[in-house]
Amino acid sequence: MYLVSTRNMLNKAQHENYAVPAFNIHNLETIQVVMETAAEMASPVILAGTPSTFAYAGDYLISICQQAAEQYRIPVALHLDHHENIPDICNKVISGVRSAMIDASHFPFEENIRLVKEVVNFCHYWDCTVEAELGRLGGQEDDLIVDAKDALFTDPDSAVQFIKATGIDSLAVAIGTAHGMYKHEPHLDFDRLHAIRQKTEIPLVLHGASGIPDTDVRHCIDLGICKVNVATELKIAFSNAIKQYFLDNPDASDPRHYLVPGKAAMKAVVADKIRVCKSDGKL
Ligand code: 13P
Repeated sequence: MYLVSTRNMLNKAQHENYAVPAFNIHNLETIQVVMETAAEMASPVILAGTPSTFAYAGDYLISICQQAAEQYRIPVALHLDHHENIPDICNKVISGVRSAMIDASHFPFEENIRLVKEVVNFCHYWDCTVEAELGRLGGQEDDLIVDAKDALFTDPDSAVQFIKATGIDSLAVAIGTAHGMYKHEPHLDFDRLHAIRQKTEIPLVLHGASGIPDTDVRHCIDLGICKVNVATELKIAFSNAIKQYFLDNPDASDPRHYLVPGKAAMKAVVADKIRVCKSDGKL
């Protein structure tokens, strides 16, 4: 079974006022847990991989995700998260990926448009949807570190211009979220999100959802967010459970044993995020 683009799943979410969760997958265990839980809850789902996840898993990754789609017989999008290298994006699309984020948000506006447009031209030929970011999220995702002082919020009028000029399918907005866990309580700019929604028509994406209170994520969905990205909370749940397992079983050495509590901890996070996104039962 092939991997789908995010076009249909995000359009449906936008029209029915819920969000599709995009979980960053770091290894086979994350893919197993996300797929199993999404299938049980009848939720559409996006498996997101950063460049370093693809580098870590190598050529196995696309095949494993295709196998997951085949096994559960649900539409699955494997999404290129925060990719910056255009030839790399093109190669992955040719290999079967149908959803890509080109992150050129650190470039000046005109250069961001030029790079994104190049990716859109290529990807649309392959029926691959494209997400891009305008503004800049703070925090750390992968090897990408943005200091809080360099974070920039998305300007609603520039968003209109950006979408028109690039032809992207979804827009990642910067409204006060950050990648990684928060050192201080995040204050999201809901008015800005509302203004962006009023002026634009394509699906809007919330990055940095780990550590955002459920009520705030729900409010963002009510204001038009239809894709919610989660990475850090999965990583923390997985590693904390495994650390605890080793404290309780210092002589453990079988990964098929010590990874089990890590998977159970991730499953609880995945189920919770699906409920917060209101995507359960939306297949
Ligand atoms: P968190 O690590 O904050 O969940 O952010 C994930 C993300 O936005 C991936 O693009």
